[in-house]
Amino acid sequence: MIYADNAATTQMSGAAINAMTACMRDTWGNPSSLYGLGQRAREALEDARERIAACIGASSKEITFTSGGSEADNQAIRSAALLGSRKGKRHIISTAFEHHAVLHTLKKLEGEGFEVELLPVGELGTVTADQVAEAIREDTALVTIMYANNEIGSVLPVPEIGAVCRERRVIFHTDAVQAAGHLPIDVKVQNIDLLSLSAHKFHGPKGIGVLYARQGIPLSNLIEGGAQERGKRAGTENVPAIVGMAAALEESCGHLEENAIRVSALRDLLIGGLSQIPHSALNGDPVNRLPGNVNFCFEGIEGESLLLLLDDRGICASSGSACTSGSLDPSHVLLAIGRPHEVAHGSLRLSLCEQNTEADVDAILKAVPEIVGYLRNMSPLWKDKAGRKKKFVL
Ligand SMILES: *Cc1c(COP(=O)(O)O)cnc(C)c1O
Repeated sequence: MIYADNAATTQMSGAAINAMTACMRDTWGNPSSLYGLGQRAREALEDARERIAACIGASSKEITFTSGGSEADNQAIRSAALLGSRKGKRHIISTAFEHHAVLHTLKKLEGEGFEVELLPVGELGTVTADQVAEAIREDTALVTIMYANNEIGSVLPVPEIGAVCRERRVIFHTDAVQAAGHLPIDVKVQNIDLLSLSAHKFHGPKGIGVLYARQGIPLSNLIEGGAQERGKRAGTENVPAIVGMAAALEESCGHLEENAIRVSALRDLLIGGLSQIPHSALNGDPVNRLPGNVNFCFEGIEGESLLLLLDDRGICASSGSACTSGSLDPSHVLLAIGRPHEVAHGSLRLSLCEQNTEADVDAILKAVPEIVGYLRNMSPLWKDKAGRKKKFVL
């Protein structure tokens, strides 16, 4: 099997599995219990918190554990919105191509009287710090802009946006779920107030994530109950998952540069090879791009059919995002960068990690052109285009 869907989820690392197994076996107490077994779990929890904080340049007090990236996004945005509304600020700036965890939270806030402004992301799928600066108003409560896009891999100018927000005294949240463990993050240097990350995107377990909140930014609860996580996130802590997340993040951050060099070389081989397919187009920023992300549109095919035929050959890939598959709507990200509906349906995302090899790339570069050709031959629309009865879009 060739796994090329690391933006959807990653395989857990040996280090994460070992750390979790040991924790489940030996340190399974409730961290709130006073006896030794509980206190050892508490120590494991706080040790993990410190190590995770160190990976992103935060202090351990600024780390809150959540059930993943979606919860962290929800809590970050709701907390900032509440803080803003107390001062009469109800304007929120974001982008048109955020993850649904952000966009759907913003949609709800609109229904609650907030004004949401989604900045256009242009053909390359990015926004500039100047765009953000121009959009900020007296009543702006929050800027929430992702670090890197999960579908098309564009890496956004987060340090520059952070500097603008800090200067204008607006809270800045970034969904760094695709960046954490893959790109350098330093919340202090990059002027980030709130940041979300999720363990299963960097070889940690699913169902666990982090909300970093800069000291001085009070979080509001999504989940009420006990006093865990300084009263900001009730529920007995998932210590094994947290310990596994710390092991995975440390390992990823410890090999950040070498992994990026290796993986982006494979990415560029794939991009070079797939560009040879006629009537195809790379989606996203060719330069400021996640090391592992490849995303193409192929005119005249359905992404779903391509995926199924790739699966037959043992290749795991995706079209649009995992969250949108199952619906017939084309990806909001591809529409946001201006791809017409017809072409947005024919997209393929391959997302690599350091475990992928050149042999994987060769196999993909053999399979995709064959399958695209096969599907096009079956398509009446394609035949019309090839016979010049209809115009090509790409
Ligand atoms: C995967 C992902 C999320 C959601 O994280 P979960 O831990 O699966 O809830 C949020 N934002 C981005 C950019 C993602 O890629």
